[in-house]
Order: sequence, then structure tokens, then C-alpha cells
Amino acid sequence: MPSPCVITIAITGSVPRKADNPAVPISLAEQIESTHEAFEAGATLAHCHVRNDDESPTSDPERFARLMEGIQAHCPGMILQLSTGGRSGSGRERGGMIPLAPDMCSLAVGSNNFPTRVYENAPELVDWLASEMIEHDVKPEIEAFDLSHVFQAVKMSQDGRLAKPLHVQFVMGVKNAMPVDRASFEFFVATLTRLAPDATWTGAGIGKDQITLNRWSLELGGHCRTGLEDNVRLDRETLAPSNAALVKRVVALCPEFDRRPATVAEARSLLGLRAAA
Ligand code: MG
Repeated sequence: MPSPCVITIAITGSVPRKADNPAVPISLAEQIESTHEAFEAGATLAHCHVRNDDESPTSDPERFARLMEGIQAHCPGMILQLSTGGRSGSGRERGGMIPLAPDMCSLAVGSNNFPTRVYENAPELVDWLASEMIEHDVKPEIEAFDLSHVFQAVKMSQDGRLAKPLHVQFVMGVKNAMPVDRASFEFFVATLTRLAPDATWTGAGIGKDQITLNRWSLELGGHCRTGLEDNVRLDRETLAPSNAALVKRVVALCPEFDRRPATVAEARSLLGLRAAA
């Protein structure tokens, strides 16, 4: 029987602009509409960043609150995940939205290089973000840009700084970080499964390799992430017309690997989240 796959739609991110692809949703109205289309196409988890009106990234909790409200109204039961990523703010301002108590927030547990800078996640800040997530009953998605991040997440779950079971996202294809490499990907999956057998995982590929990671994740029993945050094209010549178009691409791949998109209830149960209100 086909096994369910949680499809994450990363709608906006903090990098792509309208100049890269006019379909990148920037205003709250655009973000809600784009998420709704992706939800109808089969996405069950929305990974969200917010932007200022001039398209620059922000971590403004007020804006996150309005986005949550809109998505909850239009996409019943969809899992909401807010970004605490370092491109949208610095220091503890990165966690200002955690008290909104979304289902999930992203959490980087270590540092690495990004295309033009160091992605700095100092231990003190990581511990504080993790403690905020425990306090507000928010499940973290661990962003693993490196193998050391997998070990760190496991250690934090063993000593009580993170709740169990873990959900980890393996990110490949960020320039100056982990390249897209099949043997390494398999090693990431095997290492997580060995150290934390109850953990779930998602694969995320950047740029043209978004679909490569979609395929590998479906094949190896993980979950999939797609969306304009990570990739604005369908192929070299064609811009993706919407987030929904990228979701449809994953849905179309599912049967090849004996998988199917999870329902909202299945997605919540697979990730150990409370049922939708
Ligand atoms: Mg993000």
C-alpha cells in the first residue's frame, strides 16, 4: 500500500524576490493565497517567512500572527511552521514568534557557511530558541546543513533540551555547505535512524536539485519539501508559475515510489503533532 508523504511547501523564504520570479508571494494576501493553492494541490505543511513591504526579510511577530490567522482560516488543519532562520533577524529577535505557538518552528542547531556569509548559530542562542519551543509546546524542525547538526540534535533530545521524537530536515545544495551527494544523503538518513529510531525526516534540495531530493526522499521513505523559497524554476528555461505547481510536481512523482501525499490528519499523526483545532 502506498505510504503517506508529508509535503512541505516553503512559500517565500528570505532570499528570492519578485525580480527573480513574480510568483514569489510577498504580501500577506499573496502568501495566504499561494499557501491555499499549494494546500489544495496536496501540501500539508507550510514553512513560512515574512517580508516587509519592500520585500526585505523580517521576523516581525505581528506579521507572523496575521499570516497564521489567514492560513488557519483558509487551509483547515494545515501544519504551520514558522522560520527562526538567521537571514530574517539576529539574536533573540529570531525567536520572537515562538510565543505565537504555531505547530512547529525551524531550528538550526549549529553553524555552517552560506553562499556569502557564515550562518551563525551560537550554542547559547540555539539553547534559548530550543527552550522557548519547549515552553510554548512548539515542535522544532531541525535544519541539518551538516552531519554534526544531526549529532547535536540527538544529543539535545537525549539531555532534555529538545522534545522527542525529533523531526529533521536534511538540506543539500546550499552553496558552500553540503552539496547534493547521494552517498552522503544515505549516510545522513542512516545516521539519524541509527541514533534516533523514532525520528522522522524530510529532504530539501536547493535550486535545480529540489526535484533530486524530492525523488531521493520518496524513495528512502522520508518526507518532501518544495517551494519557491528553495527554487524558483521548473527547469532551466521555465520559471515555476506558483508554489502549487511545485507541489503538483511532487504529487506526480509519488506513484513511482509507491507513495501518496499525506492527508492533514495523517501528517499531524506522522509528526506527532496535536490534531487540528
Ligand atoms: Mg526557511
